[in-house]
Amino acid sequence: MHLRCSAIECHTALGLHDRVFACPKCGELLEIVFDGKLPDPPKLKKTWLERRASSDPRDSSGVWRFREFLPDGYGDSEIVTMSEGNTPVLRGQRTAGWAGVRRLWFKHLGWNPTGSFKDLGMTVGITEAKFVGAKAVGCASTGNTAASLAAYAARAGLRAQIYLPAGQVSPNKLAQALDFGAEIIEVPGSFDDAIETLLHDSGADVYFLNSINPFRIEGQKTAMFELLEQFGWQAPDYLVVPGGNLGNSSAFGKAFIELKSYELIDKIPRMIVVQAKGANPFARLWTSGSRELQATAHPETVATAIRIGNPRSWKKALRAIEFTNGLVIDVTDEEIGEAKAMIGRDGIGCEPASATTLAGIRKLREMGTIDPDATIAAVLTGHALKDTDYIIKASQSLRDEAGAVLGI
Ligand SMILES: *Cc1c(COP(=O)(O)O)cnc(C)c1O
Ligand SMILES: [Zn+2]
Repeated sequence: MHLRCSAIECHTALGLHDRVFACPKCGELLEIVFDGKLPDPPKLKKTWLERRASSDPRDSSGVWRFREFLPDGYGDSEIVTMSEGNTPVLRGQRTAGWAGVRRLWFKHLGWNPTGSFKDLGMTVGITEAKFVGAKAVGCASTGNTAASLAAYAARAGLRAQIYLPAGQVSPNKLAQALDFGAEIIEVPGSFDDAIETLLHDSGADVYFLNSINPFRIEGQKTAMFELLEQFGWQAPDYLVVPGGNLGNSSAFGKAFIELKSYELIDKIPRMIVVQAKGANPFARLWTSGSRELQATAHPETVATAIRIGNPRSWKKALRAIEFTNGLVIDVTDEEIGEAKAMIGRDGIGCEPASATTLAGIRKLREMGTIDPDATIAAVLTGHALKDTDYIIKASQSLRDEAGAVLGI
């Protein structure tokens, strides 16, 4: 395994554990490539299943269980894990009817140790940080990366530095980061300003753990290994995911490329990325057919986890969309709100950003793009308790509306 520049025309190769975050030649993002030999697919699938019955900490992790496809070189006891992954797929009930489809499943990545999919990447990212001898780790975040980084850094005994857009992070996520003892730096502006400040201000001793870090992408990609195992290695027709900084979309695309090229699956799902209308540079890029991203200067949406105007991983995500013959759309805050309420009525719950998936499915169904009999897996990225202010405000305004109708 080694690190490689993700630009096809460059592909500069580096050592797997070199401490670099961008290509030294062209500045593009790096990716981890693997070109070794593996056991044949049936044997590999059997090994992965058997590990679920083992009490080895690496086997109890829904990430490290798939370690044949993860960065290597770590000793067994050097892996920083909290049994992340192992999340369920839940059948959509009322949500399916509401969206006008019959075969809908939710993969709930919000049911991870700190309540979001960020834990899947963080277990690998923090393991690598410790392995290369970092004493401090840092990230910019809309909240969930902060909570996850803080928790895993605490487990590893590393100092955590977190840059947040001031006043724009849900109190629940901030509380988690504080609980896990992270140092918080509030930056005026948006997430995009926070990440600029992190890159500019934090010292050379701080190991970066934003999703530009290729080790995080590797961990996040295992969500698709687990999902396909749960689907009996028969891919759904569509895989729907919210898009913010586009690290997750990139990770899932990488998973499909690898699963297909090692013949673990024969069909790949079409990937649909859904953005919020007020933070939709990737959806605009897709619709216009352009190859250059036009950033959104002032991203605005109730779905704070995806309030990002200048997504770092858009090129990798575009490749994933093209590889899977997928598409990108956007939905309004109102549509997100309705979809979120429906996911709640299904007894599942999620944070606003995750509800973009259901809102997007309904929209594509109305447009006739998706067949009502298509098999659809939607990824719920964050737990309902991640943004309780939103729920209370939304239910208050519903009550106010009902009161006005009834004349109370
Ligand atoms: C981070 C996050 C996203 C966005 O993921 P990207 O990789 O930035 O596209 C979506 N939903 C939730 C809940 C998140 O925490
Ligand atoms: Zn390069």
